[in-house]
Parts: sequence; structure tokens; C-alpha cells
Amino acid sequence: MLVVKIGGSQGVALEAVCRDLSMLVQQGQQVVVVHGGSAETNEISVKLGHPPRFVTSVSGFTSRYTDRTTLEIFAMVTNGRMNTLLVEQLQKVGVNAFGLSGVDGRLMVAQRKDAIRIVENGRQRMLRDDYTGKIEQVNATLLRLLLNEGLTPVVAPLAISPVGDVLNVDADRAAAMVAGAVRAEQLIILTNVPGLMRNYPDESTVIPYLPRVGLEQALSFAEGRMKKKVLGASEALDLGVSKVVFADGRVEHPVLDALDGKGTVIS
Ligand code: ADP
Repeated sequence: MLVVKIGGSQGVALEAVCRDLSMLVQQGQQVVVVHGGSAETNEISVKLGHPPRFVTSVSGFTSRYTDRTTLEIFAMVTNGRMNTLLVEQLQKVGVNAFGLSGVDGRLMVAQRKDAIRIVENGRQRMLRDDYTGKIEQVNATLLRLLLNEGLTPVVAPLAISPVGDVLNVDADRAAAMVAGAVRAEQLIILTNVPGLMRNYPDESTVIPYLPRVGLEQALSFAEGRMKKKVLGASEALDLGVSKVVFADGRVEHPVLDALDGKGTVIS
């Protein structure tokens, strides 16, 4: 079992990813795809006159401030456009992809972070009315049901709270939770960089191999959203996934290269 997370940033070669996935699926490999959508959401939010706002938590993590309008835009972009287009691309190369989000059938249940402590202009304050969540449960049975029918699940980064609210969740951490739940051997995180760099943005400092114990230190040189990926990697390993690869999604064979160990391998 393989879980592939496709980044939301521009640059990931979707067609190439789908071609690789098609080959793997034809060989009998079971794959679950999880995707992001943050770059597209930013673009569409601006066009809709509701520009994105990012906040930094006291622990130094940056996330999207998701008021109700932002949540609806996020759902429209990720679960609407991106998910459908990804399913389209996969269908074109013979993969019977099945798009859904964590809301459908309660695939991903998350605890809503209804109050987060943020730092703004050097001062701490509480932010309420935020529709983001931390995934606590993944319905692996539902994914297996689809896989057993020969379908390839394509998951958009939305979750549902215990009381039924739709929540925005981080796609890297969602992929980690999904990988753990389906007992994947590997989680491949495709993005628009060749791997985790010790000295970002100097590409000659990409770390080829990182032992699990090195993850905590890796948090210190990962900037911005890369921190979430490192956190996701650590969560996936904690859940029993043996290998996480941060790999370049812009190359000719993004998934096959990652399986060959190109990028940053964490195990
Ligand atoms: P995606 O949309 O694919 O999930 P993001 O753009 O959110 O990806 O996060 C990946 C980005 O993190 C890279 O494009 C890079 O600009 C940035 N980054 C920050 N620190 C590092 C680092 N140490 N190594 C590699 N990339 C880093």
C-alpha cells in the first residue's frame, strides 16, 4: 500500500504523476492519493475578494485563517476543482479514480481548533471562529472498500468534526494520518522542491536520508509550510509507516523516482 500526497503549489507535474500512478496501479499496487490546494485557494480567494490571511501559532506554525467564507472557498477549490481535475487526469490514463473528501462517509474526523493562540505583531492573542481541525480518526474501512472494488481513492483535505462541521485540515498531516490508517509501507510527499534542504533555498543542501531521530532537528531548518511536512512525516512514522519520502513533483517520473529513493528519505 502506497499513499501519495500531491502538493497544492504550482509546479507539480500532474500528468507525470498520473502516468506513474497508472503504471503502479496496473501492476497491482494499491494507492491512495491525498492532495492539497493551498496555492489555488489563495488565487481564487483573491479573485473572489476575500484574500487569504495567514496566522502563526505560538509554536511557530503558519496556517490559513479559515473563517466560514474561507472554508467555503477552500471546499470549492480543493474538493470541487482540484479533486475533480485530478480524478479526470487519472481516468484519462486508465486509473479508476474515486474522488472524495474527509467529509464523505466521515472519512476523516477532526477535532475543531475553535480557539488558537496566535502571535501578531509580537503579541499573543486568541483567534476564534476558525474552521480548521486536527484529524483524530481516519475511516480506513471506507478506503479499503473502495480499493477492494478496484477504485483509487483521491482525497481532498477537508474533514468533519464530531458534531458535523466541515473543517480545513492540513493536507500533509492528512496524508500522514491516512497512511497510518491504511497501514501503508510508504508515504510519498510530492512538492516543488527536490527534498528537505538543510540550508533553504540552497538545493545543494538537500538531505538524502534522515533517520527518524533527526526529525526534531529538521523542524528547525524547515521554514513555513515545510514544517507541516516534517510534522506529518513524524506522525506517519509514529503510526507505523516505515518510510516517508519528500520528493520532487516536477520531474519526468515523480512517483517512480521517489520509490527509487530520490529526494529526502525518512525512516
Ligand atoms: P505544497 O503546496 O506542495 O504542499 P508548500 O509550498 O506548502 O508545498 O511547501 C513546500 C515549500 O516549503 C517549498 O516549496 C519551499 O519553498 C519551502 N521550504 C521551506 N523550508 C524548506 C526546506 N528546509 N527545505 C525545502 N523546502 C523548504
